[in-house]
Amino acid sequence: MNLHEYQGKNILNQHGVRIQRGVVLDNIDQIEKLSKELIDETGTNWFVVKAQIHAGGRGKGGGVKLAKNMAELKEVASSILGMNLVTPQTSKEGKLVSKVLVCEDVYYPGEFETEEFYVSILLNRNTGNNMIMYSTEGGMDIETVAENTPDLIFYEDIDPSLGIQPFQARKVAFNLGLGGEAFKEMVKFITLLYKSYVSSDSSLFEINPVLKTSDNKIMAVDAKVTLDDNSLFRHKEYLSWRDLKEENPVETEAREVGLNYVDLDGNVGCMVNGAGLAMATMDLIKQSGGEPANFLDVGGTADAKRVEIAFRLILRDPNVKAILVNIFGGIVRCDRVAQGIVDAYNNLKDIDVPIIVRLQGTNSELAKEIIDNCDFKVYSAVEFQEAADKIQEVLS
Ligand code: GDP
Ligand code: MN
Repeated sequence: MNLHEYQGKNILNQHGVRIQRGVVLDNIDQIEKLSKELIDETGTNWFVVKAQIHAGGRGKGGGVKLAKNMAELKEVASSILGMNLVTPQTSKEGKLVSKVLVCEDVYYPGEFETEEFYVSILLNRNTGNNMIMYSTEGGMDIETVAENTPDLIFYEDIDPSLGIQPFQARKVAFNLGLGGEAFKEMVKFITLLYKSYVSSDSSLFEINPVLKTSDNKIMAVDAKVTLDDNSLFRHKEYLSWRDLKEENPVETEAREVGLNYVDLDGNVGCMVNGAGLAMATMDLIKQSGGEPANFLDVGGTADAKRVEIAFRLILRDPNVKAILVNIFGGIVRCDRVAQGIVDAYNNLKDIDVPIIVRLQGTNSELAKEIIDNCDFKVYSAVEFQEAADKIQEVLS
């Protein structure tokens, strides 16, 4: 589950990580009252207004703007609130901004230069450890840094059973070129950041930029947080933070009925039981000249009801030109699944794309008979290659 910047910062703040202070509004009428609270708390009259959408690159799209007084603040906030924001990370259509975060401007002039760093914490899937990934090139797109100057990105693996060691936090601060007060601040920042990553059961913390202010404080200016869905049962307070407007409606519906569905860009819908088989099926679709329109694991209980729901979800995607069903009947009986497909076809009526069905395992002969004897655009395939050939045929 992805969070908005203000929610991510909330978690950081709860764990003592220094953040750029801010207030959230969803209606411009709230601006007087809330900005007064911010002024009382921070003593500033310089602000930055930040669109709250689940996508980065907001600065580039005009979703992050400065204001140097109350009048400017009102003007900027009203222009961003309700705007349709297009960034390099959104679709061409962009996203409606229904909340803005008004923050203190932390790039105030002072004794020292401000500096921007990149820090993220994530799971290192190669080592099974947590990893701090960091760079002196903050504020930039990390993908660009990785491509042009990969040696400016550092990695620190952290054994989750030991937690972050003091020498590791010091190493980060050292590699970022800090000294004196800023060094100490960074050590504290990294240590607390790691602790909040662990105790919120997150799978990603990306803080870009981490700012060294002109008075040598280290703070989070941005926060991209992804919580691990499997841990949400023990963080009930975060559950209410889910913003369904930001999520794919089909994925939301799938989650509610317990299906694993990920929307993709292709033209062949697939319905498979088991994540491994689903991956292999997606490869198969690609090899036969198609592109998978989704990842869908219907799980162990591929009964008629689930099959129908799955069809419904797949068919919501207008790009789908064919559907490949690839089910292994281990626990589930293939003839039941076949009957489920036929019933779903009958119930849904408006299915006008061909369906290729490969059922292997218990009662697969019976299943093939059911599929072959129905008079819809449903075709059976026994072998993997046969299924691939049939997809090629229906796509051409
Ligand atoms: P993103 O573009 O979606 O990653 O949004 P960020 O929160 O990272 O903001 C984009 C950029 O705005 C940052 O990289 C900063 O350079 C700039 N920015 C953010 N907060 C402030 C601020 O308080 N003052 C100034 N001058 N710039 C800011
Ligand atoms: Mn950012």
